[in-house]
Amino acid sequence: MHTPTLLIIAALLTGLVTAVLYAVWSFNRNIPGLRLWMLSFLTGSVFGVSLLVRERLHEVVAVVVSQATVSLAAYFCLMASRAYMGRRPFSHVYAVVAIATLVALSVFFTVVHPHQGMRFVFAGLGAGICYLLAAATLAQGGLRRVPARYLFALVAGLHGLFLLLRPALFQLGVAGAPGEAAGAGLVAQLSQFVVLEAIVAVVLLAFGALILANEYITTELRHLAEVDPLTSVFNRRAFLTLLDKAISSAQRTQSALPVMVIDLDHFKKINDTRGHRAGDDVLRHFVMLALRCLRKEDVMGRLGGEEFAIFLPNAGDGGALAVAERLRALVQAQPLLATDACPIPLTVSVGVTLCADGDSADSALQRADEAMYLAKERGRNRVETLAKPAAAHAVHAATES
Ligand code: GH3
Ligand code: MG
Ligand code: MG
Repeated sequence: MHTPTLLIIAALLTGLVTAVLYAVWSFNRNIPGLRLWMLSFLTGSVFGVSLLVRERLHEVVAVVVSQATVSLAAYFCLMASRAYMGRRPFSHVYAVVAIATLVALSVFFTVVHPHQGMRFVFAGLGAGICYLLAAATLAQGGLRRVPARYLFALVAGLHGLFLLLRPALFQLGVAGAPGEAAGAGLVAQLSQFVVLEAIVAVVLLAFGALILANEYITTELRHLAEVDPLTSVFNRRAFLTLLDKAISSAQRTQSALPVMVIDLDHFKKINDTRGHRAGDDVLRHFVMLALRCLRKEDVMGRLGGEEFAIFLPNAGDGGALAVAERLRALVQAQPLLATDACPIPLTVSVGVTLCADGDSADSALQRADEAMYLAKERGRNRVETLAKPAAAHAVHAATES
């Protein structure tokens, strides 16, 4: 296929991708980076058109437009990747200076000191570096957890590498050609290959951007389905699912799995005297304190209202009691410092149990709940444990305030 035909295909394709990304973006404007990816493809299609009409433009104008658009397209892609990963954007001043320098160098090697090779080097330099940086930005978070990011990173990285190595490829090809005519033929073939590579990169990057958008939406939906919006810990349903899995795993590996249920004492009084909003602040404050007592592998959930649960894989009976007691003491020692009035004191009652053979998430939680009610009965601001069978003895392990 002739290079102009390939260029038309490339320009049409980038235009089409821009339209598709615009449609997705207009439907969900919260997807980070999507607008910038759209701009990247839009600039890419302007680049394609600029190559098509190159012959009709003044040479300097053609060089300026193509250099600026190809660099901008890659820069937008880098910015999109940073936005997707929640990173701060670069200062645009650096980008403007870098792109202006590349444009100036390209013009220099076109007008002042014409040199096709140097022009070619600068044509892919900025873009190549941006795509490589975009790849490095996205390739994070674990291949199994977020495969879409690695797929996009692979495509962007290979495309960036190709842009940087392109001049050397041409150099090698021409140097290896037997004669001038053969050299010219090879350059024409390599030019077609360059446009073909760009077409493949556009298609794969477009798929990559769409897969990333899908990954973001899926993660958001999962977050909404699993996380309590007020306190950002797992909701009851998600916690029970995780506890069920943890019980199976603990039974398989014969390891201990303590579960605790925590209920805020006299929470209704806080709502009644300080208002519902202060009550919400207290719930968040409590979660913040609780998370300070936990390890990375411990899992916390809000069972409802002012009742929370935690399971601590591999903590053992003694370890869980120590954590529960530390949490109880910390909550008592750290009232919520409300800005408008005096501090809001808080205490919690905690029930602890060990998951035993035959336990399900429900039965383990129920036993921990009974232990918690025991702590309430015995005066609140205490830790109580209850072993299976639930009807049996209650083991005192509490600390009176
Ligand atoms: P006890 O020491 O026996 O646990 O007494 P309590 O007052 O903590 O328990 P009770 O069950 O009587 O009251 C719980 C209160 O929690 C009632 C309800 O309005 C309040 N509540 C439930 N969910 C929320 C919430 O999301 N925000 C706020 N601010 N209050 C909530
Ligand atoms: Mg309560
Ligand atoms: Mg309660």
